[in-house]
Amino acid sequence: MQRQSSEILCHATAMLMDATCRIATDMYISYEVIPVYRGRMIDATAHLDRLDYSLGELRIAPPMGRRALELVIAQLIARNGLTNGLVYMQVTRGVAPRDHKFPKDVASALVMTTKQTKSLPPSLLETGVAVITRPDIRWQRRDIKSVSLLPNILAKQEASEQGGYEAWLVDEQGLITEGSSTNAWIVNHGRDGEAGEIVTRPRSHDILSGITRLAVIALAKERNLRLVERAFSAAEASAAAEAFLTSSSAFVLPVTQIDGKPVGSGKPGPLTLRLRQIYLQHAEQAV
Ligand code: PLP
Repeated sequence: MQRQSSEILCHATAMLMDATCRIATDMYISYEVIPVYRGRMIDATAHLDRLDYSLGELRIAPPMGRRALELVIAQLIARNGLTNGLVYMQVTRGVAPRDHKFPKDVASALVMTTKQTKSLPPSLLETGVAVITRPDIRWQRRDIKSVSLLPNILAKQEASEQGGYEAWLVDEQGLITEGSSTNAWIVNHGRDGEAGEIVTRPRSHDILSGITRLAVIALAKERNLRLVERAFSAAEASAAAEAFLTSSSAFVLPVTQIDGKPVGSGKPGPLTLRLRQIYLQHAEQAV
């Protein structure tokens, strides 16, 4: 306990540009964001599995065992009286003098915070949101959840300055990878009265495997909805019947405009709204 608080103090000092801590100077940090709905975490196991995966890829030791971590998170939620919001966790390689090489014999350090969030304004769900497309200039291991988020932040800021909610990032082949902090989806026009096909990019090093994305795929498959995991272009997205994005904070959110042009009818699509309802039911089941 004593050691943990001195690490936190050291991190605070680092914010004042004391270069003895890695946190201010390096990117050796993995993080995870777990949504909390009515006081209970949604898909906690999948989030903690992803944290383990990212830590493994970055060769950072887990800060504590899984059961202990679950208990600490539950305590944090209870003591902060968190009902609806997010648990934010950040794991650094540890406290050591700044150096590009990994330090030896250093324990990883964990910092966790909670954030109470308001539900999305109903108007956002009524109108849907606008996205812009931007080149994906990130590194090639986007599957690792790390705080190296500069390209994501710059793209999101640009979207915001243009009145949009998100930037969808486009790779060198002209295919959308994902949003700056969300996964990207479209629904194609169904033929001969058939429901449209739900499309999202498959899991690979090219995207962060969103936990909301995984849940929506599983929920759609359980209901025999037509779904395919394949990459799609910005042009295909613009011509789609519906579009939406998923994330732990937005859940399933309709996208009704891409680069200033309406998607489909320009209103949230029926399948998107159905998937949002299905996801909310899934969240309720965690309660
Ligand atoms: N893609 C990126 C780049 C993200 O940063 C996030 C969330 O932070 C997501 C997708 C969505 O992931 P999740 O559904 O686990 O929140």
